[in-house]
Amino acid sequence: MVEKVIPIRLDEGKGLKPSIPGQLMAMNTSTQDTRGRPLRDLRISVTDRCNFRCTYCMPKEIFDKDYPYLSHDELLSFEEITRLTTIFASLGVEKIRLTGGEPLLRKNLEVLIEMLAKIRTTADQPLDLTLTTNGSILRKKAVSLKAAGLHRLTISLDGLNDDIFKKMNDVDFPVADVLDGIAAAKEAGFANLKVNMVVKKGTNDQEIIGMAKHFKGSGVTLRFIEFMDVGSSNGWDMTQVLPSQEVADRINAIFPIEPMEANYPGEVAQRWRYLDGSGEIGFISSVTQTFCHECTRARISTDGQLYLCLFANEGFDFKTLLRSGRSDLEIANAIMSTWAGRSDHYSEIRGSNTIGSNSSRKVEMSYIGG
Ligand code: SAM
Ligand code: SF4
Ligand code: SF4
Repeated sequence: MVEKVIPIRLDEGKGLKPSIPGQLMAMNTSTQDTRGRPLRDLRISVTDRCNFRCTYCMPKEIFDKDYPYLSHDELLSFEEITRLTTIFASLGVEKIRLTGGEPLLRKNLEVLIEMLAKIRTTADQPLDLTLTTNGSILRKKAVSLKAAGLHRLTISLDGLNDDIFKKMNDVDFPVADVLDGIAAAKEAGFANLKVNMVVKKGTNDQEIIGMAKHFKGSGVTLRFIEFMDVGSSNGWDMTQVLPSQEVADRINAIFPIEPMEANYPGEVAQRWRYLDGSGEIGFISSVTQTFCHECTRARISTDGQLYLCLFANEGFDFKTLLRSGRSDLEIANAIMSTWAGRSDHYSEIRGSNTIGSNSSRKVEMSYIGG
């Protein structure tokens, strides 16, 4: 039984106030944090709602009918998201991931994608525009997402066994419909699809080999994610984490694999390939092999708070700034000075405050996006 907690969500005007320096620097300035990490990717949560109740993310007991979801006017509008993204792009951001909650539940999301697809990086290239979804309504949406200009898609799927998957999504959603969503994405022309599987020891680790076998040779890259202690409500403890190395060992015993080079610095997934040439798999090992030292990622919550770390317990209130008549240059400078002060490296110090418990209060993943 998960203990009932009061969710952390920032009410209007309660976030940290971003500071605008007296001396403004020009846009197109790249900035580094206190650990020398540049700002390169931005995850934008477009809704805090979801049609699943994955036990590790939005457990039913907490995300029930009384949960205080954000109201429409609390959300950043498409114009506000586009303005903010344009400013982030001018500061060196190249990659945008839309997430949530379930991003495909945000009404007219394709309109936002069309707006974001027009933004250019400092190298005058389009942004790398991608989205993570539970796949439940992908069959309906795949063609329109592609037409709107979305480049890439990641679909979450925690197993092929219906009983196990239904127990994890906790809304009785069948595996077949997610697989059909993946097929629809392929038909719509999305290449290099990725599938994310959160591995919870004792819950779905028996699905690892079946998942590997299913996606091997399909052109879809399967990535195994270690169950993380995000938020304050998923009852995390270390005994439910299956280290990626063990997942790799289990796969290697049946389908031999070898490590590959990263695509780019800061790539979160470690890449491996099958020795028989039938494709690659990935491991996201946020618990056992931390990658904070090259974390170049910021997150914008559904209501416009800037979070510098997935495990932060406070965000910087950029929504109020956006709605206060400040110029793009002033907002860009506020982002630069916020990033310049960043020292977060939670995964590297996790052991010192949460191992064995889930004591510290952190924002929920469905609110800032995974
Ligand atoms: N609803 C979409 C989905 O499920 O793909 C997007 C949002 S979801 C928060 C993004 C990713 O975070 C999913 O792949 C999900 O499996 C992962 N995730 C959520 N809670 C997690 C946890 N406690 N540990 C590891 N991954 C988690
Ligand atoms: Fe919803 Fe995604 Fe969280 Fe599952 S992981 S509850 S699908 S937001
Ligand atoms: Fe980045 Fe925070 Fe995750 Fe470390 S713990 S990789 S700083 S988001």
